[in-house]
This record gives sequence, structure tokens and C-alpha cells, in this order.
Amino acid sequence: MKISIALSLSLLLLMPLTKGHSQNETPPSSKPHYWQQHVDYTMAIDMDVKTYKYTGTQKLVYTNNSPDVLDRVFYHLYPNAFQPNSEMDARLQSIPDPDGRMVNNLGTKAAPIYESRISKLSPDEIGYINVTSLTQDGKKVRHETQGTILIVTLDKPIQPGEKTTFDMVFDAQVPVQIRRSGRNNKEGVALSMSQWYPKLAEYDDEGWHADPYIAREFYGVWGDFDVKITIDKNYTIGGTGYLQNPNEIGHGYETGTVKKQKGKTLTWHFKAPNVHDFTWAADPEYIHDTLQVENGPLLHFLYKKTMPAANLENWKILQPVTEQLMQYFSTHVGDYPYDQYSVIQGGDGGMEYGMCTLIVGEGTISGLIGVTAHELAHSWFQFVLASNENKHSWMDEGFTTYIQDRALDAITGTNSDNPFTGSYRSYISLANSDREQPQSTHSDRYAYNRAFSIASYSKGSIFLSQLGYIIGEENLDKTLKQYYKEWAFKHPKPMDFIRIAEKVSGMELDWYLTDWTQTTNTIDYAVKNVDSEGNKTTVTFERIGLMPMPLDVEISYADGSKAAYHIPLRMTRGVKPTPNTTTVLPNWAWAHSFYTFEIDKPKSAITSITIDPRGYMADVNRENNVLKIN
Ligand SMILES: [Zn+2]
Repeated sequence: MKISIALSLSLLLLMPLTKGHSQNETPPSSKPHYWQQHVDYTMAIDMDVKTYKYTGTQKLVYTNNSPDVLDRVFYHLYPNAFQPNSEMDARLQSIPDPDGRMVNNLGTKAAPIYESRISKLSPDEIGYINVTSLTQDGKKVRHETQGTILIVTLDKPIQPGEKTTFDMVFDAQVPVQIRRSGRNNKEGVALSMSQWYPKLAEYDDEGWHADPYIAREFYGVWGDFDVKITIDKNYTIGGTGYLQNPNEIGHGYETGTVKKQKGKTLTWHFKAPNVHDFTWAADPEYIHDTLQVENGPLLHFLYKKTMPAANLENWKILQPVTEQLMQYFSTHVGDYPYDQYSVIQGGDGGMEYGMCTLIVGEGTISGLIGVTAHELAHSWFQFVLASNENKHSWMDEGFTTYIQDRALDAITGTNSDNPFTGSYRSYISLANSDREQPQSTHSDRYAYNRAFSIASYSKGSIFLSQLGYIIGEENLDKTLKQYYKEWAFKHPKPMDFIRIAEKVSGMELDWYLTDWTQTTNTIDYAVKNVDSEGNKTTVTFERIGLMPMPLDVEISYADGSKAAYHIPLRMTRGVKPTPNTTTVLPNWAWAHSFYTFEIDKPKSAITSITIDPRGYMADVNRENNVLKIN
């Protein structure tokens, strides 16, 4: 109901504006016009590697493509989260299961007493960005910092279709690494510079997204970045964008004779077109390897030469695997659209960024490959298909987990029938606890971190694998590719994805989006009863859970043969493609708790009846999915 009111309101708003539009555009009566804001950043940064302080200038040309007049704009100042008494600190102190990397445990494993690491940061260890000057089109504007958000009140509102230029001067400090961004982490990487600059918040058809940085996560404005970083000449940088002056820099980027800039520092000049973020890392001890992917980007690997020999060896093994992963994702989702990608040791977990990732460098080879597969897959799901991670974390973490599990299963030659069993196990255990919250919960508002993780990663991955069960796996593959085609370099929402699945499959699927992502309704179907009369057997199934599903059924016979059946779900108004050997039965109308069908064989001939033998339906009680008879 809310959605239709919001839609018709936005239609009303659009009507007068579309009057003068060319006839080629879709009329607003059939589809609301999609728009997105645009930014062009030009930044110059001077980093002091001794004090971890940096100063910067930023010119931001902002294009208001929205139909609205904007009288304020908001910037994220993410480093401000790493200060005692910040919202991130407060949340760490109140959540029952804080991220282990962000706390010290003063108690025991069994009886933990957590201490927020942020609460212990001294003034020269905290993170901050101080905006010292800000103008709009050359005139000073009022601005106020509230936590991690800078609120700018404009003297001259920005009209629809208008461009405006903000010029900013700021000084900042890199925090001791707590999470993602920071200095001198456990693995000794000097600078992990993610979310390090004043970053304009996104404004879309839902309004401003000036979310405070509490834990997770990110949503940015598409645009072009031109970034100059001046830093001690011994430091090697890896990150987003294409280096414009490789032969003045060297460090493994050179394309010809190196003629380094004179002095103690180097100024690295990067350009990154069509991204919504710019990240970098720097260390004086990085090894820098490259690998050219055939018909693909140049891969960069940056990792510390001081790590143990076994780990150095792992980083060599990782390189051709990354190439295979890049090819797998490009084939199964869509071509990787940039000319470079960098796998960088950042020393804390793993996080996806534009054209790069920062990951932990030490640890096992399977861990290193797993985290690289995951973060690289994010280049598609969240980076290019830039859904809002705060609101729909399952669209990026879940889709990433899905394609990562598929890719690793294929690359390692495992080729299992269900590479997603880990996700199903995690989800079912959460669904059977009392801690599950709907996936539509804002990422920061889960009562438990574990509930967030499972909802986003596991339940989000099952959203796809189970969709394949509903519409057929070929239709799912087509849906993913079509999703990429239609929504690359935009901000897709859940409805945008399911509409593509509907168009590809010809089935109605809004019930699936609603039940799976906006409720905690569960799936539980059972083989209820088997009755025999003469040579006929009647099988009865029961729907116990609230969530609807079509059923795949397998019947095993005493003679060793098997028969496959499919019971479509009436509300899909369709049937998935099934092999000729599968008998498609009449559909099941959801409101009926029971469904019965007849087999032309006596009960004595049957050994077992199984619902969903491949385990692609996330049934929370699988015990009653099988009835063994003889
Ligand atoms: Zn992820």
C-alpha cells in the first residue's frame, strides 16, 4: 500500500516536469523516469607518513538530476566514527555480540567482558576530518558537523538540472585501524585509506541518505574522480583508478623509462571514471605484481614483503586464481567494465571498493582465495550494481555470496549439486532461533550482529539459489545477466531485480520478494500421509509454514527406479521449465493447507517420498520432508 502511494506521488511530481521532454522518453504514465545525481571530484592530498595527518583540497562539481530543488547537501566524514563516544563507539558498547576485531575481551571466552577499542583511542590516534573552508560557486556556505555527517545549508538552492561547484579545504587524521580504514594494523600495513575523504551523500527518489557511520555500510554518488596524492617517495600506492603518470612514479607501474619526480615525495595522479568511491592503501614494504587477464583488466597485487614465506607463496598462488575468478564473474554476470583491479593487503578482514579490495594478507591459502573471491564478486554486486548497502545489504552481500560459492565450486572442480549448503544451514539455524529480523531491516538496526550477517550473506544468497528453484536455473542465469545489462552504473532496488526475474520467467514473483525479504515467514512443507487402495496410492502434503513455495518431489520405488514430480504454486501463474521426465501436477493454491495426488502404484511398491531432494528450498524443518515407507 505504501509503495503505491509513494509511486503515485512521484508520478504527480514528475508530470509537469516531463512536459517539455522529447518524445523518445518513456511517458511517466507507464514508468517513472529514472534519474541519478552526478559528482565530479578533483582532489589533491598531502599525506604526512610520520604523523598520519593529511591535508586536502576538494573541488566537487555536483549535478542535480533530480526533479527537486535542493537547499541543503550532506557529506559523509567517515573517519569521525573512530572517536571515543561516537555512535560507532556507543553501538560497540551496547550490542551483545560486538565485532571481535573492534573490541578487547577483558573477561574469558565463556564470560566475555568487552571493551570498545574506539573508547581507548587517544587524540593522536583518533580519526577525523575537519572542514576548514567550504564555498559554493565561490561563496562561503554555512556548514555544521554532526558526528560523521557534515550538513551544508546552501545560500543558493540547486535547481533541477543545475550544476554547482563546491570547493573545500580540509585537514584530517588517519585513525589507528579499528575497522577497514586506518593505520598500522595488525599485519603492519601503514595506510588503509578507505572512506577517507569528505564524500557527498546520495540523494535519490527516496530523498537524502545521510546515514551516520555506525557499522555498515555504504552508498555513494556516481561520478568521475581525479585524485593527486603526495606521499613519501618510498611508499607504494594501490587503489581505485588509473595512474596518469606511471613513468614519474615507478613502483611497478612504469610503462617505459622511469624519470622520477625530484624530492622526498612523489605526487601520484589517478583518474577513475564512472565510480562511486575512491580508495587507496600505501606501504613502504609492498611487493607489486601484475597479471594481464586475457580480454580483461590488468590485475595488481600489493602485499608486504615482510610477511612469512608461506604467506608470500600464497600470494603467488592467488594470482592466477584471481584471473579465473575475474573470468567466471564476467561470463556469468557481465563483463568487468574497468581496465584494472587491485588486490591489496590492507590487513583487516576484507572490504570491497572501486576497482580494488583491501583484504587480510596472512592466513591460509583457502582463506585468502575465499576473501578475494568474495570481494572481487562485489565489483559486480554493489560496485557496478550499486544498491544501497544500508537498506538492502542482502542485495550486495547475498548476491556476492551466491556467485562466490558458485565460482569457487566451479574453479576448484568440485561441481557439487548444491554449493550453497553452508548458507542454508546458517539461515535455518537463525530462522529456528528467536533472533531473526526481516532482511528489510536497516543494517545498523539488527539486535545482533549475527542476525545481520546471516540475513545479509546467507539468506541473501538463498534468495537467488531458491529463486532458481522457483523459476528454473536457466531463468535465474538469464535474470542475473539482464539485471547487469539494465542496472549497471545505477542504483537498483529490490523491486527492480524481481521485475526482471518476472519478465524473464513469465511468472508472478512479488510474493517471493515480500515474504522472503520483508518478513520472517518460514517455509515448512511435509509429507503428511500415504494411503493405499488396491493398486492406487494417495499422497498428501501439508503446508505448515506461512511462506508459499512450489514443490519438487521425488518418489523412490522398491525396484530401484525413481520418479520426479513438480507441483507449481498457483500464485506464480506459471510453471518453471522442467525436464520431460518430470511429471507436472496441478498447481497448489497457497491458502489450502493440504494437497493430495494419486499414483498408479500400490503403497508396497514405494520406498520413500521426498520433498525437494536437492535441498534448494530453505525448509526450516527438513525431517518431515521425507517419508520412508518400506
Ligand atoms: Zn561482502
